[in-house]
Amino acid sequence: MLKITKITIAFLLIAALGGCGKKAKTPETDNPAPSETPQESVQPTITPEATPASDNKDGEGDIMMEVPDLTSLDSITLIVNKQRPLGEDYEPADLVKPDVPLAKSSVTLRQEAADAMKVMFDAAKDDGISLMIGSGYRSYDYQKNLYNNYVARDGEEEANRYSAKPGQSEHQTGLAADLSGTNSSCYLKGCFKDTDEGIWLKENAWKYGFILRYPEGKEEITGYIFEPWHYRYFGKEEAQKIYESGLTVEEYYNLQD
Ligand SMILES: [Zn+2]
Repeated sequence: MLKITKITIAFLLIAALGGCGKKAKTPETDNPAPSETPQESVQPTITPEATPASDNKDGEGDIMMEVPDLTSLDSITLIVNKQRPLGEDYEPADLVKPDVPLAKSSVTLRQEAADAMKVMFDAAKDDGISLMIGSGYRSYDYQKNLYNNYVARDGEEEANRYSAKPGQSEHQTGLAADLSGTNSSCYLKGCFKDTDEGIWLKENAWKYGFILRYPEGKEEITGYIFEPWHYRYFGKEEAQKIYESGLTVEEYYNLQD
C-alpha cells in the first residue's frame, strides 16, 4: 500500500508539473445560453492511473481500484477543470437537444447525458418536481464572451470564483448542465439549494448518473464556489461511487495538486 501511495503521488506530481507548463488562457464559466462553434481540441494533461480515494468500504485500502478514462475527449468521465482545460476547437460530436423542458431551444448535451436527463426529469416529475435545463453545452467562444463580460462587471479575481475561463468550463464537454425548476426560482443563485428542485436533485441526481460538481465548502478544491444548480454526468456507476464517497471529483480521483 505504501508503494502504491508513493507511486500515485509521483504520478500526480508529474501530472501537476505537466499541467503548469500548459498555456491555458481564456476563461469560461457557468451561465446560461450556449452558442456553438466547434473546434479542434487540446488533449487534456494526461494523468497516469489515479487511485480513487474512496472504496475503503471493507476497511481494505490496498486494492487498486479500476479508474475510468479521465482524459479522452469522448469519455463520459473526462475531467475538465482549471488544471485540465479543453482546446478552443473542441466540440463534442454527439450533441443533441434534450427532450425535456429547456430555458432556451438552443440547449444541447451529449447524447448519453441528454438521455439520462430525460430519465431523471421523468422520475422527478413522478415526485412532483418539475425541472428545466437552463444551460448545457457551451462552446469555447461562448464561454470566452461570458467570462469577459463577468470580468468587466466584477473584476478578474471575483469572476474567476464563479466563472470558468474559456477551455476550463465543464460545459464545453456537453456533459454538464445548469438546472432549475420550470419556475426558474433561484436560478443560478445560492438559494436554489433550498428549493424543492434543488433538494430533490441533491438527494437523487446520482441515481441517474449526475453529480453535484461544485459542493458547498469545497471551493479550495474544485476552484469554484458552491453551485447547487450545476450537475455533471458521469454515468450511473461512477456517479454512485463518487456520491457515496462524499468527496469532490478532484478528491475522489486524486487529482489535487
Ligand atoms: Zn454550470
